[in-house]
Amino acid sequence: MMYDYLIVGAGLAGSVLAERLHSIGKNVLVIDKRKHICGNCYDYYNKAGVLVHRYGPHYFRTNFEEVKDYLSQFTEWIPADYRIRSYINGKLYTFPINRNTLNEFFGVDLKTEEEAGVFLNSKRIKIKNPKNAEEQVLSLAGQEIYEAFFKNYTIKQWGIDPKKLNASVTARIPIRTNTDDRYFNDSFQAMPKDGYTKLFERLLKGIEVRLNTSFREVKNKIMYKELIYTGPIDEFFNYKFGRLPYRSLKFKFETYNKEFYQDWVQINYPNNYKFTRIVEIKHVTGQKIPRTTIVKEYPCSRGESFYPFPAPEAQQLYLKYKNETEKLKNVYFIGRLAEYKYLNMDQVVKRALDLFNQLIP
Ligand SMILES: Cc1cc2nc3c(=O)[nH]c(=O)nc-3n(C[C@H](O)[C@H](O)[C@H](O)COP(=O)(O)OP(=O)(O)OC[C@H]3O[C@@H](n4cnc5c(N)ncnc54)[C@H](O)[C@@H]3O)c2cc1C
Repeated sequence: MMYDYLIVGAGLAGSVLAERLHSIGKNVLVIDKRKHICGNCYDYYNKAGVLVHRYGPHYFRTNFEEVKDYLSQFTEWIPADYRIRSYINGKLYTFPINRNTLNEFFGVDLKTEEEAGVFLNSKRIKIKNPKNAEEQVLSLAGQEIYEAFFKNYTIKQWGIDPKKLNASVTARIPIRTNTDDRYFNDSFQAMPKDGYTKLFERLLKGIEVRLNTSFREVKNKIMYKELIYTGPIDEFFNYKFGRLPYRSLKFKFETYNKEFYQDWVQINYPNNYKFTRIVEIKHVTGQKIPRTTIVKEYPCSRGESFYPFPAPEAQQLYLKYKNETEKLKNVYFIGRLAEYKYLNMDQVVKRALDLFNQLIP
């Protein structure tokens, strides 16, 4: 049997492309080395009947209308209230930093955006072009905010000095002068009504999927015309230039016989404990059940490859692999592992739709 496309990875990139190609009559095979579809978006009901996210909380949000419209064919949505807090010196503070955080943390009474702007200005350290994650926060919010909310969290999360990390690491988190306390700024913020796994089941309906199947095992056994590869790019090339570094996480789930454990979907613990955050996903899945499950996240260097390392040396190594891809024909690298880039879900869907348009103009 000759497939038009072999797709490696049943995560978001692979599943969206599989759906698009299947919809125009292409003969597609999807393989994944894991025992489930859905990649890192995988969710399931645990023994206590609580819907949990296996690989860390996945908060869907987007500014891309096209992505929202596309996914809406496969799911209804529940509006999501992503509001989190940060635990500093025994108190919970609004996070990301906004005017309320400034008032609570510094004991001031800033009433307007202008006042908050002037106050932040007085705290800022003037750095023209912040070159790293530390300078990024110092230049926006100053030393006290950096020390309390960012420094130790970043060290725990990445295991190295924030000075060695790209400025983009901390630039992802807004610092606001208004009182908006949503975690994100995106215009659409919602969770798939029946969860991510159900959404993926609908995307992959009618498509041949082989689980527990790694590319290495089958690459010489399956016949295909074109390959879409969403696995790690260094693995594809047998690590010939060395391994790309990743940061991993260990998840410790705990279930309680009560409706909620904490008041927020996420509480960050920058300075205490070995974990970085406690997430109670039930706050945003909309599930009504008298039990709840929380998860504590412990960053570590070994384990599943979660976060591409946001440092210049890692990027240089990636570019060596990327150069190799340009020598190949009919092979497409897409997604967070194949492009060695931290990408949110909506960015991955957008890239998959764009690649489809490029493949089938
Ligand atoms: C802890 C964490 C939290 C996140 N939270 C959010 C969030 O809140 N909001 C958001 O928008 N995004 C979030 N993301 C990002 C989100 O997970 C990604 O955008 C999305 O999963 C990327 O999809 P993908 O298809 O590129 O990769 P993946 O989901 O990783 O899928 C790749 C698939 O390929 C398979 N594979 C790899 N190698 C092989 C091989 N050799 N053979 C066969 N199969 C293989 C893997 O098993 C995997 O299933 C988070 C990511 C992490 C790690």
